[in-house]
Amino acid sequence: MPNQIHDLARKTDDVVIVGGGLAGLFCALKLAPRPVTVISAAPLGQGASTAWAQGGIAAAVADGDSAEAHAADTVAVGAGLVDENIALGLAREAGSRIHDLLHYGVPFDRDLEGKLAVGREAAHSARRIVHVRGDMAGQAIIAALTEAVRNTPSIRVIEGFSAEALLTEDGAVTGLQLRNVSDATARPVTIAARAIVLATGGIGHLYAVTTNPHEASGTGLAIAARAGAAIADPEFVQFHPTAIMVGRDPAPLATEALRGEGATLINDRGERFMLARHALAELAPRDVVARGVFAEIAAGRGAFLDARDALGARFAEKFPTVHASCLAAGIDPASEPIPVAPAAHYHMGGVAVDAHGRTSLRGLWAGGEVSSTGAHGANRLASNSLLEAVVYAARIAEDIAGTTLPSLIRLPAEPPTPRNCAISALSEKNLRAMMSSHVGVIRDGDRLAEAVRAFASLERVTCNVALRNMATTALLVAASAWTRRESRGAHYRTDYRSENVALAHRTMTTLAAAREVANELSTRAPARAAQPMNA
Ligand SMILES: Cc1cc2nc3c(=O)[nH]c(=O)nc-3n(C[C@H](O)[C@H](O)[C@H](O)COP(=O)(O)OP(=O)(O)OC[C@H]3O[C@@H](n4cnc5c(N)ncnc54)[C@H](O)[C@@H]3O)c2cc1C
Repeated sequence: MPNQIHDLARKTDDVVIVGGGLAGLFCALKLAPRPVTVISAAPLGQGASTAWAQGGIAAAVADGDSAEAHAADTVAVGAGLVDENIALGLAREAGSRIHDLLHYGVPFDRDLEGKLAVGREAAHSARRIVHVRGDMAGQAIIAALTEAVRNTPSIRVIEGFSAEALLTEDGAVTGLQLRNVSDATARPVTIAARAIVLATGGIGHLYAVTTNPHEASGTGLAIAARAGAAIADPEFVQFHPTAIMVGRDPAPLATEALRGEGATLINDRGERFMLARHALAELAPRDVVARGVFAEIAAGRGAFLDARDALGARFAEKFPTVHASCLAAGIDPASEPIPVAPAAHYHMGGVAVDAHGRTSLRGLWAGGEVSSTGAHGANRLASNSLLEAVVYAARIAEDIAGTTLPSLIRLPAEPPTPRNCAISALSEKNLRAMMSSHVGVIRDGDRLAEAVRAFASLERVTCNVALRNMATTALLVAASAWTRRESRGAHYRTDYRSENVALAHRTMTTLAAAREVANELSTRAPARAAQPMNA
């Protein structure tokens, strides 16, 4: 592989896509037959949230449904921050992109008349989730696209290398610094590119409890921010209320459909704690349930999903994936409550992009979860993320095809940081723990300030590039969460419990601005002593 990549460095002359999930692979296929290189930290099919998606893709394809209704639902969930034109554009292009995916071989379920079968999910006013064999959409999408990519000669795939820095010249992106993921001490490799598409997914793995794969550590966001790109809405992180706490990292999901079937949330005294918190109890909006579960655990009473009465012996047949996760941990969900906790699940924020997926840096596009298009606002409508990934991947391919890219590529100079110290497992663990405790489901100014100071210091002092990138993204999330003095959508602060109409706008920030917040906070007397983090 190292020879292959050195060779690549000399030959790369066109488009480099970083990421092998839905956004990256779809963009590569749409660009064919143009030569494209796809770089993926994990082998294709692994290390991508896409493969784990259970619900499906939202698309107003059923009779009686409309793009306007889909966009209205998206706007309603986003707590005042959704860009209505972007939401409408997404909804309108959904049908065409679903047909593209069918063309690439994704076997979406059909009804008896042969039309696409559509399911219903929370906060959608119509049945509009296209799916595959019940809860297998993600796996089916990634399998079909991987096969299509492997059969497309114009696409080169480099697996097992992580992009750790963007190289820039005169404000334009000119290349990438990559490192073999299995050898942190190896020299990094630089490659040149005329256009780079970031499709590196989300940031969930920055949290101690998450449903996201290890690769979703916010590296793409960090390297864009470190190169000077504008970042939008980083404070908005969606937490899934019921990840199964059986000591697995990432944590398996107990799907919302279980509560739809009547499963209840109880504490270790057997009390249904959601009854006192919301009129809809367990069926309240996702962020409300997440806060309820979090508060119960923080109070020391624990939280459990109880499906004994609602499903009992039918559990295995109705929810085979969840059943298998429980059995593997020695829990029989037909006769025992399942221990649960909220888990970082989806990042509404990301690298700010326009309607073509262009970032603020020349030569750099971003698509999928790493980007922030304005479609999700402060909260994401279920199954809109795969839709956004596929719509923007197509738009980016079209935009690149219509753009005159710089013709001369020079190989970037040797990177200034050729060596890397080993990552300390303890520092990574501490960062993730602090994200969960200080920048998680329930936030307040003091703990956010403490986190900002700790992440800024870690970012400055660590000699491990991967950890530094994690700290950069963590700093961006914490600094924007500290700056937004209100509660809105998935962002909840106990010191500012309501929405503030004056703050009904998206956050646009940069790493320089986040570091300024950190500088300002470090000159103030900390309310609590800052916890130094190991570097
Ligand atoms: C358990 C679960 C269930 C979900 N269910 C749904 C659902 O039903 N419907 C829905 O719409 N959404 C769902 N989502 C969200 C959705 O799956 C993601 O938002 C979407 O798949 C993101 O696609 P992506 O292509 O942007 O990123 P991903 O699919 O995460 O792919 C990212 C790729 O980038 C690579 N990578 C990361 N960093 C680097 C780097 N530095 N260098 C090189 N490569 C890198 C990774 O290895 C991977 O190949 C779910 C998410 C999870 C975790």
